[in-house]
Parts: sequence; structure tokens; C-alpha cells
Amino acid sequence: MGTERTWDMPETMIGVDDARERILARFAPLEAVATPIVDALGMVAARNVVSTVDVPPFRNSAMDGYAVRSIDVADAPVVLRVTGTVAAGTVPDRAVGPGESMRIMTGAPIPAGADAVVRFEETDESSRANNGLAEIEISRPVQARENVREAGEDVRAGDAVISAGTVLGPAEIGILASLNMATVDVHRRPRVAILSTGDEVVDLGPDLQPGQIRNSNSHTIAALVRQAGGEPVLLGVARDTTDDVHDKLFASDTPDLFVTSGGVSVGDYDVVKNVLKAEGSIDVWQVRMKPGKPLAFGTIGNTPLLGLPGNPVAALVSFEQFGRPAIRRMLGHSQLSLPELDAISMERLPNPGRRRHFVRGVVSRTSAYLEARPTGDQGSAVLMAAVRANCFIIVPETSDVIDPGTTVRVQLFDGTLIT
Ligand code: AMP
Ligand code: MG
Repeated sequence: MGTERTWDMPETMIGVDDARERILARFAPLEAVATPIVDALGMVAARNVVSTVDVPPFRNSAMDGYAVRSIDVADAPVVLRVTGTVAAGTVPDRAVGPGESMRIMTGAPIPAGADAVVRFEETDESSRANNGLAEIEISRPVQARENVREAGEDVRAGDAVISAGTVLGPAEIGILASLNMATVDVHRRPRVAILSTGDEVVDLGPDLQPGQIRNSNSHTIAALVRQAGGEPVLLGVARDTTDDVHDKLFASDTPDLFVTSGGVSVGDYDVVKNVLKAEGSIDVWQVRMKPGKPLAFGTIGNTPLLGLPGNPVAALVSFEQFGRPAIRRMLGHSQLSLPELDAISMERLPNPGRRRHFVRGVVSRTSAYLEARPTGDQGSAVLMAAVRANCFIIVPETSDVIDPGTTVRVQLFDGTLIT
């Protein structure tokens, strides 16, 4: 039963940063896969991309107007002959000679001889008949290259446009498209298999019988995995038996990471630990944090396993501190943890026991600074305080209290916009 250990395992108390480093040491970016560029949004380039082409591919007009020789309009106002039109997507059928101009649209190739474009607004076009324009008055001089986009102005053949490790956003995807790259090599998404444990835990569907609770953790963790960029695979709920945990862990294809919830706290049935002991290796730590003190980390075969505590908030907090960085490292990111900011704590935050306390809170903006406030009951089974929160307010293990008005570090939840 609970306190009876079936095998000898020293449980050590370690700091959050230490636990994080020990876990991260086991992860590296996964192999590269060629991915359609739009599906690569938010993913990390696995290789440098060097352009083989110029962007834009030819010298073209940045404005609708008239292609001219700048030397001809140095004494503007001046009247030039109009010898034709160049539309976008066509090529000029003649060159621009002395005293001549061509009507030109944005994106159209600059005709030979011309070296600048005068915008419609700087001509008398609007006061002339629309059709059969034979001549045009240019109202001011232009510099050579004015309103001209040079070939290769954006990207030159041979330029390194994206380096390995870059997170691909919309602009990067646009550049890849300009280079005619339909796919890009990115580190693939890890598959993360999620197993909840507990005789009392029941998955969605059947009515709860006395003594049973709903499996919320698998779904919270699946959402967190997806938010971190991984591909969640739900393995369901295992009874508190070594056999059931074993069977369910081995039921699916080998993932890149197992995440379990429950069965790692002192006084539990030790089922997760027993399976890891038999199938691989495991460390069980008491992490100097609150919530989320018990944490297991080990391997099954070659697959790492992160054993989160069962309490819903503890599972969420520990995943964000240890699971998210592991997944992001597999994706090739260098920014692994949630983004952090400084804010002023508006309330007193006691921290008995001197563990690093991840207080569920709201950070909001005043005109001058950011304010942080806890969101009610901080019990490790009270998920609603996390529902109302947009951050963790971090009370360091070195503080036994945070007084109102003190600067605190906050970790923003993924996707938070501060208002
Ligand atoms: P354990 O870590 O297994 O001792 O579980 C700690 C607490 O979390 C107990 O109250 C469990 O009932 C609860 N719990 C465990 N697993 C889940 C789960 N999948 N969903 C919701 N609550 C859970
Ligand atoms: Mg349990």
C-alpha cells in the first residue's frame, strides 16, 4: 500500500531550475521533415535557406506613373511624348528615348532607357483626355532610380534569407514563396502520449459512481501539449496497477515523450514508478515548488517519461515548467519557457515552506506599469483559479512573503495579451 515502497528509491528534494536542466539534458531537436510552407507556421527551420534567385526578379516600377529619363525632366515642368504603356505582367515593347516616356503600372518592368518613374499625381494626366494620350506634362524633376525597385532589392541570389533555428512566421513564409520553395525543412512535431492514472479517475462518458472523479488532466495536458507545439495522443486512464499502466503505455506506437499524471506522490500506489523501474529508469524528485512538488522523470526503452502529479493545478504548473520546455527543445526552439515580465504585486503573497510558488494570477496594465493579482483559492485542486488567470505570479523560494507594492516576476500563459 501507499507508504510501503516495493523498491528502494531515494526521493531527493531539488530546485525547479535544477530539475528543468536535468530534464532538458535528455532532449534535442527532432529530425527535419520537409513541410508545406503554410503548415510550417510557428515551426523552426532546421537548415539555412540560401536564395538562388533575385527578388524582385527584374527592375520594376514602385508606382503607377510615367517611366522617364531623369535627365529629360531636370528642368520640369516639361512635356514628353508618350510612346506606349507597360502593364504589370507584360514586357515593354520599346525603349524610352530622349524626350519620350511610357505610361507604366506598379510592378511592370522599367523599359530600357528609362531610369525613374514620375507618379500620375505629378503629371497633368488627370486634366487630359483618358484615351490616346500622345504627350504628358511632368510637373517636377525626379532623381534617377526614384520609384524604381531594383532587381534583387529585397533578396539577392546567394543571400542567406533564413538561418537554422529561425521561427517561421508569415513574413518568412512569404520569402520562401518568393523563392519558389513549396516546402521547408523544419524540426518535426513530437508525438506526446498522455496517460492518466488512478482507480478513481473516469474518462468522459459514463456517469460517475460514488468515489469517482472525472479525468480532466488528460485533456488539460493534451491542450498544453498542443499549445507547446506537440501532437498529443490520448492513452486514456490506467487503473492503479502496474499491469494496466504497462499495457496502456505500450498500447500505441512509441511516442517521443510520455506524460503521465498521478501515481507519483508519496503515499500513492507507486504504479508509474514501478513500471519505469521494470522497463527503464526513473528518478522521483521532490521539487522545491508549489504546487507540483512530486515529479517523476525517467525513460521507458529510449523514450523519456515525465510523471506529473495528479492534482489538476499541480499537473498544469509542472507541465508548463518541465513539459513545455522539453517539447519546445524537440521542436528546435531556443525560447523554451513561458515569457516572463516584471509586474507590481498588488496583494500580500505569503509563502510558507519556502518553495517556489506559482500563484495563479492576472497581470493587467495601468498607464505606468503592470499590476499582478492572484485569482482566488490557490488550492492545487482548484482549476478555476487557473481558468481566471493569465499568468503565474512567481514567489521565489527565497521569500517567505511578498508585500504589496513589491516587484514580482510573472510568467505569461501562452497567447496572453495584456489589457
Ligand atoms: P495522485 O497524484 O494520483 O495522488 O492524485 C492527486 C489528486 O489528483 C487526487 O485527488 C486525484 O483524484 C486527482 N487526480 C488524479 N488524476 C486526475 C485526473 N486525471 N483528472 C483529475 N484529477 C485527478
Ligand atoms: Mg492517483
